[in-house]
Amino acid sequence: MPKDTAMSEKKISIERTLDRLSGNRQLSIRVYLIALLLYFAAHIMTVVMARTQGQMLVIMGTPIPYSTFTGVFSSLGNICIIIMVVFFNKIGLLTSVLLLLLQLPMMIVNFAVQNSPNSIPGLFNNLLTLVAIFFIYLNNREIEKNQKRMRDQAVTDSLTSLPNRFACTELMNDLMRRGIPFSIVSVDLDNFKSINDTMGHEVGDKVLIEVANRWKYLADSWGSGTIDFVARLGGDEYAMIIRGYHSNKDLVNTLKTYQAELEKKITIDDCDYYMGACFGYAEYPADADNTGVLFSCADAAMHEVKRLGGSNRILHFTADQIRTERTLEIERTLRMALETDSLFFRLQPQYDISRNLYGFEALARLKDTNGSLIPPAEFIPIAEKAGLIDQIDYRVFRKAAVFFGKLIHETDTPLMLSTNISVKHLMKNSFIDEMREILRTSNVPAERLSIDITESIMIDSAEKAVKCINEVRKMGVRVAIDDFGTGYSSLGYLNNFPADMLKIDKSFIDVMNSSESSKKYVSMIISIGHILNLQVSAEGVETQDQLDTLKKIGCDYIQGFVWGKPMDPSDAEDLANPSAV
Ligand code: C2E
Ligand code: MG
Repeated sequence: MPKDTAMSEKKISIERTLDRLSGNRQLSIRVYLIALLLYFAAHIMTVVMARTQGQMLVIMGTPIPYSTFTGVFSSLGNICIIIMVVFFNKIGLLTSVLLLLLQLPMMIVNFAVQNSPNSIPGLFNNLLTLVAIFFIYLNNREIEKNQKRMRDQAVTDSLTSLPNRFACTELMNDLMRRGIPFSIVSVDLDNFKSINDTMGHEVGDKVLIEVANRWKYLADSWGSGTIDFVARLGGDEYAMIIRGYHSNKDLVNTLKTYQAELEKKITIDDCDYYMGACFGYAEYPADADNTGVLFSCADAAMHEVKRLGGSNRILHFTADQIRTERTLEIERTLRMALETDSLFFRLQPQYDISRNLYGFEALARLKDTNGSLIPPAEFIPIAEKAGLIDQIDYRVFRKAAVFFGKLIHETDTPLMLSTNISVKHLMKNSFIDEMREILRTSNVPAERLSIDITESIMIDSAEKAVKCINEVRKMGVRVAIDDFGTGYSSLGYLNNFPADMLKIDKSFIDVMNSSESSKKYVSMIISIGHILNLQVSAEGVETQDQLDTLKKIGCDYIQGFVWGKPMDPSDAEDLANPSAV
């Protein structure tokens, strides 16, 4: 396709879509010509009728002067003029003014030279029509301006001025209606959250705008060689609709062009940023023929690139990326386990740094129909999506607390029980009542219980979370920030977050001894924890070397395979009360 043709085709298609969305339908030039012709016909008839003085038309025996119809034809002419101004804006106004002004000299000559008083009403009619059409034109312009503003608001993203998801969906629908093949690309910026967290939202917004400007320029200037449409879907997610490519290689080249443009240095307020992104795409009609499914396919491909994490950041959708079958199977198993109360727990010991038993963490366990364990890393996110996580937390918490209540009363040991609470569960209004009920029925004193909350809530719903956590702590229950370091490790939040313990994520412990800087990093987390009056626990400690380092840098507690894997409650009982074995 020649470049110019393709460019204009692109514009027409996108404009057409946007116009259709705002209901802005222009009448065709044919209507303009018809109105013009009708006007001339009406004008001629007005003049003819005005000159038929005394002549009568007999209708059903009643004589009616022809001149009576002068007004009818004159009004018809005015209607044509109004139609032109209303539907053809500036062109309509100019034509109408010209037509009306052209009549003025004739009327003035009629009145002044031929002394014909018949011209006076016509003259007034003309002047009033002129005033009226100016008024209509100005009013119309105001309405159109508002309409355009509303249209823009409905179809554009206010931050970047790119088209939004709605415009993107409509363009896809339009292309599908016309049977034009295209590819929808889902794009997610890498590490954007960390820019927002470390540099603030203002800088984050500027980065999003800069990315949008670069990509828009590329799309509008035909920089990629294909016909592209770039939209922002929200947050750091963008979408592209690419067409006019001949092979998969062309399409990948186009995406590489966008990738290269993004990877160029971005300078904001004298700071340089280097961005990257994951691109996942799905094609119409090959992969799906429905906008919702196409979006999901492109998203699935994008998430897969993210998961793979290699140097290739562009991926085509394939059916195995949507693990619906497996997801559904796990969801079914979860529901069944809740129904039959077969969800169970294991307890992993936690020690102080001198290897005195400090307590246990209760971890949910689920078996599939063959009796094999499904890892929590797989079923917990599915439970969260399916809205089952609060029931899971509750069952694990209740069962573990009942067991633990008996254990501490039998052994009379000052042990602690930790349980994982999902953010969704914590935010539920019923959470505090549930906790009270469990503590009462299990006979576990509140101060022997600690809830692990993952760090991400500090950003996601900070205010509400802090309120809930304060209530929990008021009851005497302790709070630990779980997986510290993996989410939004902002010092500001940490300072304001009401917690008692910080659990350093396993990923930091894994690499801690690989370099001096990694060791310093963990040491720094421990120091900050202590400054903020938090106890610090290391998760996933597997080796003696790691233990030695943690001891040296002042870590308070240890949880890891080196001293104890998650175990059945009966083994935990033996561990807590060795004299009874
Ligand atoms: P978590 O709360 O950080 O729990 C610690 C996880 O690290 C456990 O995995 C434990 O088995 C594992 N772990 C501890 N020490 C070591 C080690 O030395 N090496 C290795 N390789 N792993 C170690 P698990 O049981 O698979 O649980 C994974 C995550 O699932 C938990 O991470 C927690 O976030 C979540 N989870 C588990 N049970 C529940 C629950 O009842 N409710 C909620 N909401 N989440 C849960
Ligand atoms: Mg935990």
